This record gives sequence, structure tokens and C-alpha cells, in this order.
Amino acid sequence: MVSKIEDLCIKKGLRMTEQRRVIARVLSESQDHPDVEQVHRRAAEIDARISIATVYRTVRLFEEASILERHDFGDGRARYEEVPEAHHDHLIDVETGKVIEFRNEQVERLQREIAEKLGFKLVDHRLELYGVPLVKGERKPRG
Ligand SMILES: [Zn+2]
Repeated sequence: MVSKIEDLCIKKGLRMTEQRRVIARVLSESQDHPDVEQVHRRAAEIDARISIATVYRTVRLFEEASILERHDFGDGRARYEEVPEAHHDHLIDVETGKVIEFRNEQVERLQREIAEKLGFKLVDHRLELYGVPLVKGERKPRG
């Protein structure tokens, strides 16, 4: 089985070693925006010879090839996800570090409008929301 990221690597002409293949698979299967240490832990479960230095080099290579997107969610650790097919933004739970993906058309439109007012056509943006879970009773009904 070829993982999605491995498939992208092959299409982009990257030379795939066995270790790179394992790292590609781990990244393909991760839904949680892992940092390099988390990727290393998961990869080492599959092949204990994979070093953290190899993981660092490999994620950088994948990032340079526009296969991975790097995020900084405010804790100083670079976190990675496969470059998504459809744009989304992130909400980070600052207590647990959990990352929630969302897309909001009002926000998308507002950002385009702001750029246009400033004389620009928007080509990209990043939006990160940082929050703590609401306690019971604080939660407003959705509407
Ligand atoms: Zn994401």
C-alpha cells in the first residue's frame, strides 16, 4: 500500500528510501498536526532505526516540496499536516494543545473584503484561534 504522501513524493520525483516511506505513511495517517517528536515516536514504532535527525530532514524535504504544511501554533514547536486539498483554519485548545479544523464562509468573505479595501486580491491567509473550552452554562446556543 502506497500512502497518499508517498504517492505525492513519487509524483514530485523525490527519491524514496524505506525510512522516508515509513515517515510518509505516519504523516499520511496523522490527523492531529503532529510535531517532529510525535512523528518520530510513531515512525520508530514501525522501524526503530529511524532517528529524530532523519525525521527532521525528511519533514523539511517534504515541506520544501509543498507536500507538507508547517504550522506554528504558539508553543514554539513546528507542527505538520499534509497540504490540504481544501482550505481550512485552526482553533487551538491552549490547555490541551488539541487542534480543531474549521472553515467559515463569513470569515473567508470578510478577509477577501479587507484585502480588497486595502487594494489587494487575497491569495492566501492563515487564521489561528486560541481558546479554552467553555464551562457549562457559558456555552451559547448555536444559531
Ligand atoms: Zn489542519
